[in-house]
Formats: sequence, structure tokens, C-alpha cells
Amino acid sequence: MDLRRGTIGLLLAGIVFAATTALAEPAPIKLSVDATDAPRNLLHVQLHIPAAPGNLTLYYPKWIPGEHSPSGPVNNLTGLVFSANGKPLDWQRDAEDMYAFHLVVPDGADAVDASFDFLLDAGGGYSEGVSATARLLDLNWNQLLLYPKTDQPLDLPFDASLQLPAVWKWGSALPYQSETGPGKITFQTASLGTLIDSPLIAGKYFRTIELTPGHTPAHYLHLVADSAEDLEITPEDIGHFKHLVAEANALFGAHHYRDYHFLVTLSDQVSHFGLEHHESSDDRLGEEYFTDGDARRGFPDLLPHEMTHSWNGKYRRPAGLATPDYQQPMHDELLWVYEGLTDYYGKVLAARAGLQTNADFHELFASLAASLDHRSGRQWRSLADTAVAAPLLYAAPGEGLSRRRGVDFYPEGDLIWLEADTLIRQQTQDKKSLDDFAKLFFGAPNSGPKIVPYTYDDVVQGLNQVVPYDWKGFFQKRIYDIAEHAPLGGIENGGWRLVWTNEVPPYQEIREAKRKYTDLNYSLGFSLTSEGGIGDVLPGSPADQAGINQGMKLVAVNGRAWSAKLLRGAIDTAATNKAPISLLTVDRDYYQTFAINYHGGEKYPILERATNKPDLLDEIIKPLTPEPGTNASVSK
Ligand SMILES: [Zn+2]
Repeated sequence: MDLRRGTIGLLLAGIVFAATTALAEPAPIKLSVDATDAPRNLLHVQLHIPAAPGNLTLYYPKWIPGEHSPSGPVNNLTGLVFSANGKPLDWQRDAEDMYAFHLVVPDGADAVDASFDFLLDAGGGYSEGVSATARLLDLNWNQLLLYPKTDQPLDLPFDASLQLPAVWKWGSALPYQSETGPGKITFQTASLGTLIDSPLIAGKYFRTIELTPGHTPAHYLHLVADSAEDLEITPEDIGHFKHLVAEANALFGAHHYRDYHFLVTLSDQVSHFGLEHHESSDDRLGEEYFTDGDARRGFPDLLPHEMTHSWNGKYRRPAGLATPDYQQPMHDELLWVYEGLTDYYGKVLAARAGLQTNADFHELFASLAASLDHRSGRQWRSLADTAVAAPLLYAAPGEGLSRRRGVDFYPEGDLIWLEADTLIRQQTQDKKSLDDFAKLFFGAPNSGPKIVPYTYDDVVQGLNQVVPYDWKGFFQKRIYDIAEHAPLGGIENGGWRLVWTNEVPPYQEIREAKRKYTDLNYSLGFSLTSEGGIGDVLPGSPADQAGINQGMKLVAVNGRAWSAKLLRGAIDTAATNKAPISLLTVDRDYYQTFAINYHGGEKYPILERATNKPDLLDEIIKPLTPEPGTNASVSK
């Protein structure tokens, strides 16, 4: 289906066919959002919804695209009032579908007015999470509207307007009509699908960098931050993002957006995640992301991942996720393609664009292969089951991760698609690669935003067009069957092998420092927060055998107040003698001492070159395009 009615087409229709279309086209729903109280986490919403007299049901969006879950934050909608012709109307929430509101439109009325306040800081994950500070706002329209049932709800026209705090600047892919006063923005008429697909960031400290000046389509890097210093991105980094745009377009060979907008929030106060859209991505990162090189090094692939979704996830979308409105349940089974393949290309593009070094890329793959291979939950559930149950797993706590498994279709997708890539290269004597599938499946012809659904059979057929192979058998074994071990074939075909070292590898050291944890999973069997909180204990590990549990807090190591350095020293010492490592823990009111009989020394995963095979890994992450110059044109 086509999510977006072309704006130019609409204007032309208005001019040329005004007399006939006025009857056929529904009048737009007017949506006015007052964000002047955003600094205190409140948005005020008014809706004017054309409606005929009689029963009317209005829906608050429940299943949110990209979140793959019924995560619409209806609990944060407060102070709901309906009226018609200035007179208040009674309403009732549906007893079974708590996202539906029933009311009766009185005779003589041709519209219903609704108003409510939206609470921005009322908790929840992803876009439901913290989205504003005193100086900035991340706005998602799905949180701020109700819509009636129609044959094609995604096509319902909306006239949106927004009042921001007067001095704030903003960025969004949503085409705007005019700015009629300080912070007062009127947008062009947009369909419900386009509106919800076009979030907005705004704030006091704001900067827009044009990544492809003079070219169509345009690509923008919009940055909003809590302070002016955090906007100081280096020319070298701007060059990497220009390179990313060139690499993504070279990979797919065509695009499906009119312009593309990275909407980057730099704040330690908001939730951190990325959410994809056809023509933009909502990328929320720490405030030092561009000013501290190690911070970006710790999360190099967020923007590449979200941009890849414009092709895989938005343009081509699993049929079960291409729902006709926001109320019908999504079927998440093919997330191993939607998210798994995107995650693979996010990492590959980060390396090709120079956002990540080859050495970090190797270490990252070693770390995710080791972690997936140690998940005991592999013994009872398939990877496909983690995708089917994604809405539950996105909301699951970190504790119990090994036994339960998590949203493993992301990292295990990296390994499986790497293996597919190396297989295609081997089968075709390096004449073809997974990039050929990417072009064939997600590429030409260029278009604006639209959705072309795909099925599992379409994926298999597409791969067979690149190189005939038993792809069904390949995926059956890795995705749908119980697979006790992580799929390491891609690493091995790629000319590398997973090995262990007793020194903390350089990339792990950076990530531990930035994310504030200590990873001892493959020696003692757990990782620790900087406060000593013990995370998921790996079943069968020395810590598990000694009786240590997740949720305990480490107090002392061999009788002395704990530190990461002391604990690592104790593991090293125990490798040379027979004395157990003594750990004192506290769990709520209860103190306990555990003796861990572990003498294997520190263990960390790295990749080692297997010199009997060609190095496909480094071949895969070689850039397809030359590195662009670093002269960025800066506007707004
Ligand atoms: Zn994703």
C-alpha cells in the first residue's frame, strides 16, 4: 500500500479537480499540539475530527511501527474531553480494547472536538520513554492523536500544527506549510500514515548539517542537545556521515525517500534508542556522542542501522508487519530479516563509512558470537520463537537473559547474515555477495515512501536469484530448529576463528568504561554494574555452581571491599594456586560468602585470523565508494 499521498499531487488535485474531489475526499482532521509546556513534560492536544451524527469510535494508536509491539502509551493520555458544537459529550472506553473510545455524535453536528494532555515523563520503553528535557523535545505524533475507523485509516488526511517554545528550532521529514509566528509551525496536509512516520525533534540548542548539498534527494543531520558544546561535531565525523549516505545508496542502488533526515538527540536525560521511519530516524544518544571519540566508538552503528531500515523494514516489510491500521496485531516472526539483516548491514555500513575500525568490527563479532553461544535458553527455544515473542522480550528484564533468551534475532541475525554473505561469495568465486541480494530485493526503481510487503518465500526466492542454494534448509537449521550453538560459520568462512585471551581486549575496555560495567561472563560467569550489582549469572558457570544469583550485590573479594581491578586480580591469582576466590555478597538484608573454585584465569573473546582461508570479513567491510571530502555545508 502507499503510505503517503504525494503533496504535489494533492495540491494539483485541489486546484484542478476542486469541484469533484471536494465531495470524495474526507475533510482533514485538525490536530493542534501546544508544546510550550514541554520543558515540564506536558503536551496539550486539540483535535477537530469531522464526523456524522450517530455512534463513533475513536482509536488511540496501539501497535507502533518499528517497535513491533502494542506499546502505544495510552496510559499517558490524560484529561480527555470530547465536545460537539461546544457542548460536552459523554464517552466510554471499550471494555476489551482499552485503546478505543465510544461516543455518540449528536444530530446537527458535523465534527467532534477532543482535547487531552499527554504526559511525556510517565515511563515506558522506546518512544514511550523520557522524551523531553527543559531544553529539548522528541515528538512522536502517534502519541498525540485519535482517529476514527475507516476503510483505509492510513490515508486519513491530517492538518497538523505545532506551537513550540518561541526560541526553539526544529527538524522533521514532515513537509511544512509555514511558520506563522515564533515557534508556530503549520504543516502541509499529510496522511495519518505519513504523520505517524514523521517524528520531530526541537530544542534550544539545535543545528542542521546538510550532508549532500546541491543533490537530490537531500540528506540532513539534525542535532538537538542540552547544551551548545554538545553540537560540536568534528569535520571528520561529518565526513563519516556523508560517507554513510553514499555507502547506503551504493549498497541498495536506489532510494525510497524524497529527502532523508537523521533526527539526533544528544542528551543524558532522555531514553537512548533508535526508531526507524521511511524518511527519517529518531536517534537518541548520550550528550558526548560527537565530542568524545570513545562515546561514538561504543555505539557506532545506530545511525547506519536506522537508515538501513528505510529500505528493509519501511519500504520492503514482512507481510505480517504491514498492518492496515495501528490496532491490528503485528506478526513478528520475520523480524530475523527485518531486524537481523538490518543489524548486519548497520554494522557493515558503520565499518564501510569509517564510523568503526576493522579491529573493532572483529572484536564486536567475537563478543556477540561468544555471548550467544553461552545462552542456555538456546536449548529450549528457537531463534524464530524469540521473534514471535518479541513484544514480550523487548519488555523483559536483563535478569534471566541466558535462560530466557532475549531479542536474539538482532545479534544472531548478524551471524546468520554474515554466513549467508560468505556463502554467496564462496559459491560464486567472489563474483557475487549479499550486496547483490540487497540491490535486487530493496533497490530499484527509486520511489517515494511506499510499502512493498515480503514473505519468507520471497526472501528465499530472492537469494536463489543471486545464487541457487538450499536457502530453506540453511534458515530452517539456524532460525526454526533448536540450535544449541551459535552459528559461527560466517566467522569461519570469513577466514577467522573465535578464540580466548586473558587480557581485556581494547574494544571491550572502551565499552566497559562507557557503559559502566565489568564483563566476567566467560570466567566467573557474570557481569557487574559499576555499583557491584551482579547481572545475569550464566547457568553452569563457576558462579552458578557456587550458588551466586543475579540481583545480588558484590561487597568484597577475598575479604577486601570490591573493585573491578581487585576482582580481576583475584581471578589471575587463582589461576596460579588452588585457593578458591571468596566473594561476599548482599541480597536485600542478607549477607553471604561464596567460595568459587575457578582456576582458569580471565577469559575474553576475540577473533584470530585463520591464515588458510581468504579474509572475507575485511573484504565485506571494504567501502564501495571513495571517502567524501569533509567540507560540510551548514545551515539553519
Ligand atoms: Zn532496527
